[in-house]
Amino acid sequence: GLLPDWLDGNTGRIGVMGYGEDTAQVTPLEFTTKLAAASGATVVLGSAVGVNCDGDTVTGIRYQPRGSDDTTEVLPCTDVIVSAGPWSCIAEEWFEGTTFPMEGVKSTSIVWKNPDPSSIPTPRALFCGEDDRFQTHLEVYPRPDGSIYLCGIGGSDYIPTEELKLGAYREVCEAKPERVEAASLAFKEMSRVYREGGELEKSQACMRPCPPDAMPYMGKIPGYEGAYINAGHNCWGIAWAPACGKAMAELVLDGHSSSVDLSPFDPARFHRRAKGGRGRKKGGDSVGEQW
Ligand SMILES: Cc1cc2nc3c(=O)[nH]c(=O)nc-3n(C[C@H](O)[C@H](O)[C@H](O)COP(=O)(O)OP(=O)(O)OC[C@H]3O[C@@H](n4cnc5c(N)ncnc54)[C@H](O)[C@@H]3O)c2cc1C
Repeated sequence: GLLPDWLDGNTGRIGVMGYGEDTAQVTPLEFTTKLAAASGATVVLGSAVGVNCDGDTVTGIRYQPRGSDDTTEVLPCTDVIVSAGPWSCIAEEWFEGTTFPMEGVKSTSIVWKNPDPSSIPTPRALFCGEDDRFQTHLEVYPRPDGSIYLCGIGGSDYIPTEELKLGAYREVCEAKPERVEAASLAFKEMSRVYREGGELEKSQACMRPCPPDAMPYMGKIPGYEGAYINAGHNCWGIAWAPACGKAMAELVLDGHSSSVDLSPFDPARFHRRAKGGRGRKKGGDSVGEQW
């Protein structure tokens, strides 16, 4: 009874990672949409292009409203948190003296339609080892609407900081057809139900944000008042989102996070240049009056 009903094809050795008492699945779009609605926040859609400062203090965000043709508006603010996934490295251009090296790992994923709409596939996630026949290491996630999401499809591309700063793959991020084909074949091997009655619903790609040490940037942007960054959560940005959101809210409101020790995620850890002159901050560390 442990094996999900859709896992009825050729599989190798199967081990149980957990029984579901302490695990859960999150569907990111549904999760973020509902959280935003529940928060009561006003969401302004647009593309941020810079920040306004009065000296070292942030006073507003310059942005192009979605759907406008290159008009730039200013959203006044006391605090800004740069949280733009892999594209957050653009903040280097907005905040003098900062460096946020980032790599975007662009990977294909697919969604299969439910072959039998009268029943929902058993909601067990499956993590496969490397399948040398297809160069995949599938992760399979059945969703409550009956569809099945698959990633771990292989053939990822690695997008460097300079391209991300130009907005690479931000608006359009397409799947690789040959990886869609490989993943479909690999999945159909292990699921007879899907091989016989399944249909591909969606092929897509998305990007993991990876700083060089695989640790996120979370904290105050050095040298500025009211400037923060929360980005680069690699392959854990969905699971960690609620904890990171709480920690960042504490940091902004209380001046420090009481729920997470943010020191390992210091946004200044790769900074090379120093902003300002003597007695200012160097790489985020106060260097005192002597420097
Ligand atoms: C195939 C795949 C599978 C994954 N599986 C998991 C998993 O199982 N569990 C897990 O925890 N994580 C997983 N991840 C990682 C997770 O998706 C990321 O860590 C997470 O999405 C990062 O969230 P984010 O909000 O920082 O960035 P994003 O989700 O990338 O969101 C950034 C947003 O900012 C927008 N933006 C960029 N620039 C600007 C600008 N100038 N102005 C306005 N908006 C801007 C972008 O359009 C985008 O909407 C997976 C990633 C991939 C690619």
